[in-house]
Amino acid sequence: MIAVLKLGTTEKQIESLRQWIESQGLKVHLSKGEFQTIIGLVGDTSKIDEELLGSLDIVESVKRISEPFKSANRKFHPDDTIVKVGDTSVGGNIFSVMAGPCSVESEEQVIEIAKAVKAAGATMLRGGAFKPRTSPYDFQGLKAEGIEYLIEAKKETGLPIVTEIMNAAHLPLFEEVDVIQVGARNMQNFELLKELGRIQKPILLKRGLCATVKEWLMSAEYIMAGGNENVILCERGIRSFDSQYTRNVLDLSVVPVLHELTHLPVIVDPSHATGSARLVKPMALAAAACGADGLMIEVHNDPKNALCDGAQSLTPEQFSDVMGSVRHIIGK
Ligand code: PEP
Ligand code: MN
Repeated sequence: MIAVLKLGTTEKQIESLRQWIESQGLKVHLSKGEFQTIIGLVGDTSKIDEELLGSLDIVESVKRISEPFKSANRKFHPDDTIVKVGDTSVGGNIFSVMAGPCSVESEEQVIEIAKAVKAAGATMLRGGAFKPRTSPYDFQGLKAEGIEYLIEAKKETGLPIVTEIMNAAHLPLFEEVDVIQVGARNMQNFELLKELGRIQKPILLKRGLCATVKEWLMSAEYIMAGGNENVILCERGIRSFDSQYTRNVLDLSVVPVLHELTHLPVIVDPSHATGSARLVKPMALAAAACGADGLMIEVHNDPKNALCDGAQSLTPEQFSDVMGSVRHIIGK
């Protein structure tokens, strides 16, 4: 349920309404936009008398929100959420590009790639330290050591770093990580999501392999319900019946759909979506054209010898070419 407040409502009046709502056992989500203040009521609103709330002096209108996702809902928060990440941010008018290797392989490798992607215009460095691999016999990542190398690359380049978490027990290792990624395979690891709701660091939530939009938003809701509203959504392709020529199906239609449903920023990962380096550029451009707030792209200095996802990794030169064309699309 949301209550749109009248223009000119004072802080004191908002506070007293908040206390009343909380005394009814509900949580309050306050959204102060340029023109409107909206109070979201989260929890079991069946005991709230809609007419009583609507009759209050400061309330302009009351609406029930039928969708099960509340905090993530644009009705709760009409303005776009801008997630601050170091000196940059994700969402709003900024186009973010997170680029780097699938896995951190060595300190030299990640620093070399970081410098190259920065020179090409990336706004953040990505790199996996804990890798979710389908086979237990494949390279599992450098783990804590990988995070140390990312931190070194951040010191060298100033780029904020994005890396995946697989277990909440590893959180102490993520102190200096700027954006914590929840990979597709963990999108519905609810215990992990709850833990990430207890911190304030930005969370990049990738869409699960077979997740519906509603399931994905409910996972964002798990993080937000704990108090962490810094969530970035990332479309990375979904499973379908034909994986012969593309690894997944890149569902670009979710970009405008999500912009309608939620205020959270939405980025697109054409690397995992297609699985093929030559498909990354056209899909990156399509993502920029349909309104994505940014991209995640895998870049490797030596794709042929990459320990993971070499086939979909761009060389720094190819990445630079993609960035040039992306700039044309976004007009920057
Ligand atoms: C990744 O970004 O390295 C990754 C494993 O992605 P996904 O969870 O989308 O497969
Ligand atoms: Mn990868």
